Amino acid sequence: MAKRKSHKPKEDTKTSFMFPSLHQRVLDAISDQAVSARFDEKTTNQSNNKYSTNITGKFKCSNKDCSKGGWSSKKVSILIRGYPGNGYNALVFNQRCQSCNKLGILTLDENSYVERVAYRLKKWAGVRTEEQPYEQNAGPPHKSELCEGCKQGYCQKRNYWED
Ligand SMILES: [Zn+2]
Ligand SMILES: [Zn+2]
Repeated sequence: MAKRKSHKPKEDTKTSFMFPSLHQRVLDAISDQAVSARFDEKTTNQSNNKYSTNITGKFKCSNKDCSKGGWSSKKVSILIRGYPGNGYNALVFNQRCQSCNKLGILTLDENSYVERVAYRLKKWAGVRTEEQPYEQNAGPPHKSELCEGCKQGYCQKRNYWED
């Protein structure tokens, strides 16, 4: 198989993903504020800062026999963590298919990722930033039972949307 440059994860059965390849774009987005950061792939809980929010993405069902095909979400759960010495990472959580309950194959909306992460890093660095206007974006209700972020207890909308 040819090695393709892609932000899609290699496995389709992961419950969460990291995108170190987008680090440079995050850096570009915060450089105007003289904020520095380095991507830290440690997944320990030794973070000094933690923030969960949502980004936008598309999913394809990993089950090729499934008739649903795919779906898009404005509430892809993301957990941003800060570490000592300007370290950070961001964990993006997978979702399950509504019709067959298999995990999705994520295609990230890279702009929404970069904006959210950059915004949070600036905030943690103490830079005054404008509130993002789409912070409370509308969209279909978040389905906790299909969200791996909810399952692992990180998703912001967990209690909000539950019946
Ligand atoms: Zn499916
Ligand atoms: Zn969730």
